[in-house]
Amino acid sequence: MRASRCAIGILAVLILGVPALAQQSWFSETLVRSREAQQAFQYIDQNQDRQLEEWIRITGIPAPSGQELQRALYMESEMKQAGLDEVFRDKAGNVVGRLYGTGAGPVVVFAAHMDTVHPAGTPVKVRQEGDTLYAPGVFDNSASCSNLLQAIRAIRHSGARLQGSLVFVATVQEEVGLKGMRAFLEENRGKVGLLVAMDGGLGSVSYGALGIHWIRFLYSAEGAHTNNSRGKPNPNRAVARAILDISRLPVPGPESESSAICNIGMIGGGKVFNAMSQESFFTVDLRSTDPGLLKDLDAQITLLAETAARTENVGFRKEVVSENPAGGTESQLAERRRHPIVQTGVDVLNYLLKDSYPGIKVGAVASGSTDGNVGVEMGIPTIAVGRTFGRDQHTLQESAEIKPLFLATKQIILLAFALGRLEPGWP
Ligand SMILES: [Zn+2]
Repeated sequence: MRASRCAIGILAVLILGVPALAQQSWFSETLVRSREAQQAFQYIDQNQDRQLEEWIRITGIPAPSGQELQRALYMESEMKQAGLDEVFRDKAGNVVGRLYGTGAGPVVVFAAHMDTVHPAGTPVKVRQEGDTLYAPGVFDNSASCSNLLQAIRAIRHSGARLQGSLVFVATVQEEVGLKGMRAFLEENRGKVGLLVAMDGGLGSVSYGALGIHWIRFLYSAEGAHTNNSRGKPNPNRAVARAILDISRLPVPGPESESSAICNIGMIGGGKVFNAMSQESFFTVDLRSTDPGLLKDLDAQITLLAETAARTENVGFRKEVVSENPAGGTESQLAERRRHPIVQTGVDVLNYLLKDSYPGIKVGAVASGSTDGNVGVEMGIPTIAVGRTFGRDQHTLQESAEIKPLFLATKQIILLAFALGRLEPGWP
């Protein structure tokens, strides 16, 4: 009897699930019912055609990393027209717009990067097929630029009074090491209360940072004509040896909480058939959310790369191209997860998804690869949220769905009201 009661108990737990730890959230449906939220939503619904048109226009303004000026000028002029209290371009080239609060709330920063990975000259004309747009950069991150501008207009239109100040930043050079965001946060050290990065597909809310190390290993030797090459040091052999050794290195996979991934993306060296290479290289893209593992693997890879040079008797050089720090694993970030900004992000998105996409329920992930990483690194409560559904970002086939864009814009509005603390007095 006792045993069977116990079995029923276990069964009940299996069916009902173990109750998740309740996380504090600043979202509530009362907020959605407020007059301000309803007016802002109405603005989004009634201006979908214009928003779509603007999204296409933004995508059509080329903005390779470091060459964002044209797009920045557009963002700046639209932010000014939307009636923010202050709009300017900072030293790094970011466009910054502020909407002052009544003073009692936090400074909440919303950031969308303007740059694309596509080099100058890439055709950026948008093609529409049904509910999908196709063009390089249409998803990453023109969609967020569109969301940013339209959310600003809707918030202004709603007449909302917030206790906190909202700062909208269209950043530069996200794709080449989060440079614009870093410059902005360093210039505003201690002044940012909460940070929302607008990037990535709609889905999980990120509150961590994937650490990324980009390394180039270079091997050199005197070189020689093929006829005189017998027995001479050969940088290409060192490259081959190093790559084979590195590929045998055990790297913990996603089954482990502390996982990593390593890719050798580029390899090169030598100029002609009939001579030895004088300089050869390969690159490593090493990623992990665990700072300890990242450092450890970097050291092991460097040792193997260096040993290959010694074995082959060639010159060796390690070039650190960029190092974006890791935020921590899920357990290392347990404290961050408890900050209400994370659950607020999850609740807002699930609330909006539940009608149009009842099958989708999102959660929070202790990773991230956006401007938000800099916030995580600096200890600012940070989340990254998506812009619409889409595919094939960073390729010429990049595409994005139109309808979920409007949902993502509403997401930004609710986040602004929840994090910036809409003044009581609703509805
Ligand atoms: Zn992006």
